[in-house]
Amino acid sequence: MSALFTSTSLALKTRAAGERVAGSDPKVKNTVEEVIADIRDRGDVAVREYSQKFDAWAPESFLLGAEQIADVMARVPGQVLADIRFVQTQVRTMAEHQLASLQEFEVETFPGVFLGQKNVPVTTIGAYVPGGRYPLLASAHMTVVTAKVAGVERVAAATPPIDGGIPDATVAALHLAGADEIYILGGVQAIAALAVGTETIDPVHMLAGPGNAFVAEAKRQLFGEVGIDLFAGPTEVLIVADEHADPFVVAVDLLSQAEHGPDSPAVLITTSEDLGRAVIDHVDRLLPGMPTRDFAEAAWRDYGEVHVVDTLNEAYALADGYAFEHVQIMTAQPREALEKMRHYGALFLGEGTCVSYGDKTIGTNHVLPTRGAARYTGGLWVGKFLRTVTYQEVRNEESSAMLGEITGRAARVERFEGHARSGDVRVAKYRGDTFEW
Ligand code: NAD
Repeated sequence: MSALFTSTSLALKTRAAGERVAGSDPKVKNTVEEVIADIRDRGDVAVREYSQKFDAWAPESFLLGAEQIADVMARVPGQVLADIRFVQTQVRTMAEHQLASLQEFEVETFPGVFLGQKNVPVTTIGAYVPGGRYPLLASAHMTVVTAKVAGVERVAAATPPIDGGIPDATVAALHLAGADEIYILGGVQAIAALAVGTETIDPVHMLAGPGNAFVAEAKRQLFGEVGIDLFAGPTEVLIVADEHADPFVVAVDLLSQAEHGPDSPAVLITTSEDLGRAVIDHVDRLLPGMPTRDFAEAAWRDYGEVHVVDTLNEAYALADGYAFEHVQIMTAQPREALEKMRHYGALFLGEGTCVSYGDKTIGTNHVLPTRGAARYTGGLWVGKFLRTVTYQEVRNEESSAMLGEITGRAARVERFEGHARSGDVRVAKYRGDTFEW
């Protein structure tokens, strides 16, 4: 088994599997449509049926009570709790700096006319923490800690059962992060229940968090009715490497992301054919000994790519075209990518860092755009939980009369007579004229 080894100048087909467009799989789309419609119709009964069907999980209550949470906290090993606290501190520090970087302002544009901007938190959000294949507790830090730093009042979190039971470490992470409600509920049924509400679950205003193709498609279908953070679907990694990179480390890093799932692309773009070939050899040797071989092997087989280009500038341009979630730069001058690249969810600069640090510990948010969404958005950050709203006040009567005159003319061009008269009435009042309706 090996990834396709191509020269971009030859323009060979580069992956075995087909298109990677969010929501493009009609089977996923139809299933999600059906589940959402049914939950909208039949509420809790439908939620329970789908949880039973997809996750063999139908406890008395999906919401964990205080006693159950206390039991979980007692069961989770101390070192795991300490590590969770460490990572949450990193994520919180990053989010607090992001919050501090956001400016609110008020400007006087002419005498007595004040325009202002404020950042107001979303009131209530649903935080989804994936858990179908792995208990992805790191997503709890990313969504819940960040939302709480933004000032979200109610964070209702949902995560699937794992191995037929409560995912202890994920629940501990959610609890320590400050989740207000924790539901052990996965997939579309969780997303739909949080978005549309049921007899027992109050609806939220916005959904956040990554997930598999079903979760990403559910968020896509519900967008508009609720806000969403971004399309954070199956993980993607792209490494740009030159001849200075260590092919063994490159191979390990590609596989470490391919293990996310069989649909997780892992791409290498290199200026060194020798390095490319060495990476392929290492991957082929490493795969058999990988405990998560099934996912990683399928991902590498179907979505693995290796491209050789002549220059690093070509490598950056090609990488920009992918607009991948994670882009790792393993070259002699990794920082030049900050200037040269535009489309990525997160950049990992130099051999000393890796996507796994971003995923698990370093403190930048790991909820990142996939499937080309990096062309129009960055990843989850404190600003996604804030609504930038504006306000205005006119304290000066002559300024208001002047605006009234212009508004009257502007509105009449658009044939809005009612709008025009809101201006007229002020012109008349502040200049001592009579206003006739
Ligand atoms: P998940 O929690 O996203 O999905 C599990 C749920 O999917 C289950 O609870 C089940 O209800 C539902 N499901 C499974 N098969 C189904 C079917 N045939 N029909 C209907 N529903 C079905 O967990 P996962 O599957 O392990 O996926 C996690 C995903 O999150 C991975 O693809 C990973 O790459 C991705 N991820 C992305 C980011 C990002 O920022 N983009 C970050 C972390 C993880």
